[in-house]
Amino acid sequence: MAACFPVESAAPKARLSSQARVVWGSRVVTVGGDAPVRVQSMTNTDTVDAIGTAIQVKELAIAGSEMVRITVNTPEAAAQVPYIREQLDRMGIDVPLIGDFHYNGHRLLTDYPACAEALSKYRINPGNVGKGDKHDRQFGQMIEAAVRWNKPVRIGVNWGSLDQELLAALMDENSRRDQPWDAKQVMYEALITSAIGSAELAEQMGMDRNQIILSCKVSGVQDLISVYRELSNRSRYALHLGLTEAGMGTKGTVASAAALSILLQEGIGDTIRVSLTPQPGEARTQEVLIASEILQALGLRSFVPSVTACPGCGRTTSTTFQELTKEIDDFLRAQMPVWRARYPGVEKLKVAVMGCIVNGPGESKHADIGISLPGSGEAPAAPVYIDGEKAVTLRGDQIAQEFRVIVENYIEKRFGTPAVAQVA
Ligand code: SF4
Repeated sequence: MAACFPVESAAPKARLSSQARVVWGSRVVTVGGDAPVRVQSMTNTDTVDAIGTAIQVKELAIAGSEMVRITVNTPEAAAQVPYIREQLDRMGIDVPLIGDFHYNGHRLLTDYPACAEALSKYRINPGNVGKGDKHDRQFGQMIEAAVRWNKPVRIGVNWGSLDQELLAALMDENSRRDQPWDAKQVMYEALITSAIGSAELAEQMGMDRNQIILSCKVSGVQDLISVYRELSNRSRYALHLGLTEAGMGTKGTVASAAALSILLQEGIGDTIRVSLTPQPGEARTQEVLIASEILQALGLRSFVPSVTACPGCGRTTSTTFQELTKEIDDFLRAQMPVWRARYPGVEKLKVAVMGCIVNGPGESKHADIGISLPGSGEAPAAPVYIDGEKAVTLRGDQIAQEFRVIVENYIEKRFGTPAVAQVA
């Protein structure tokens, strides 16, 4: 009897969370349930600088961020939020804005109603809403604003600002156990209890449970996985996922990808953010590109055509192959803001740029369009494959330009909207 390969075992598990709606104008971004996993980002401008903030929000949105969070930390910042929103609307950027509140959110949302209205979602950190008897009262004021303006909230717990009174109470309780947990388990429990307890309190205060999103961010990969598995086991709220303070460059990228991929594969996580520290001079949009790449690599979303390329080896002694790969990749990304509207489905295109005959023709045939460049010692010819068939062989020093034209023509033919027949 023929064995059956367990193809389904490699597919990400279905997410079981409830669904929230983050709305601005006619733009509705659904989060959770069967909605696509969403990409979020956060500005690092001073919110008081409304123009600078609006410009960065625009850049993040164009890069693919589906919601953008901004700091709302002072009365001056809160006063600028409606103006930032207005600037974005004028630029035709309808991305929802999320307000990030700590310590004084209850006052800002009450004293600046235009800010409360212009935001599409509020992030509340239960560790930073006040101590003692002020905690529930100030948390309640923020929930009251969310209910009044019909906005979803993210109850975002972070181990760097964990509710210390709750942690102390849980440590106390732990010390009375016959077999006490270790300190890390108590900390995990405090994160989860803070998030779920706050969500239940918000519901008691009148918040629709579908409008609540939870997060419990930590900066260790294994810690994040443990906490989110348990959080997901214990609740059905939509979850925002991110490794907090991921760090810079390769370290931040790899740590975020490792943690988020494992959880997303298990069906955990409805929105993601990559909390990357930008390298000096690096664009803030890098965090959006990495988040998008994680989702695309897992097969959960498609954002840009993918370019498969071999790493090169001793058979690719010139830099032509690297240059062509980069040129094609940059070209495809640069065109996407226009192509997304003009060529629906183009983001699923697969292009291969390969360095020699060893794997070049084979990999190129698996792509929609592939080119196999000549390795050292091979004849100076680059066969191009379209839909698995060899279509043409390019020669000479214009290979890059000619291949680009072939890619453009393919996209126009396959993804272009057929012209409507003219009726006389
Ligand atoms: S395809 Fe050719 S050039 Fe590329 S890594 Fe393999 S052997 Fe090297």
